[in-house]
Amino acid sequence: MINLKYFTFNPFDENTYVIWDPITLEGAVIDPGMSSGKENIEFDKFIKAENLSLKAILLTHIHIDHTFGVDHVKETYKTPVLANKADEFLGQRRMEQAQMFHLPVELSPLIVDRLIDEGEVLKLGDDTVFALHAPGHSPGSLLYYIPSSGILFSGDVLFKGSIGRTDLPGGNYGQLVRSINQKIIELPLSTRVYPGHGPSTTIADEIRSNPYF
Ligand SMILES: [Zn+2]
Repeated sequence: MINLKYFTFNPFDENTYVIWDPITLEGAVIDPGMSSGKENIEFDKFIKAENLSLKAILLTHIHIDHTFGVDHVKETYKTPVLANKADEFLGQRRMEQAQMFHLPVELSPLIVDRLIDEGEVLKLGDDTVFALHAPGHSPGSLLYYIPSSGILFSGDVLFKGSIGRTDLPGGNYGQLVRSINQKIIELPLSTRVYPGHGPSTTIADEIRSNPYF
């Protein structure tokens, strides 16, 4: 069973998740969103208190609110960034993204260290993290699924009762609805879903109440 901690960071109220194996203390951070010194300290305190060794930065997609903290994690923990190739162009355009949201920040282009696609991406103790490609919110959106723990990180593909926006560069509404109804609907009903924004949910609850299913 994987352990999980979430933080809500930055002006977009983005959920940053840390997952780790309680025996080996090997972990990963999903979408580090820290955007201030205070948020970096909060994150670092937690990693130190739990004595975790971070093996990977798993990006669900390369929008700024999900990547503000990437440089800090890379520098502090020497952790490689994993993401899908179809979102690489968004990493080159982080300043443009910031300007679009009128954010007075300096962001360097984001370098992906390991390009990943559908399939196994990481082992943490006895748990294996699988990526599922679910384009539509962005072309390279990935879901991270850990079957042995029954959890899914859905990024901005699926929220409790809703789905991600499709009006940003590379977004496609038809594709997003297809991703949800082909990839997510296949997962066990009891799977707990942790989205990039807002509260967690389950596949069963979403099939029952989310109009996009
Ligand atoms: Zn997004």
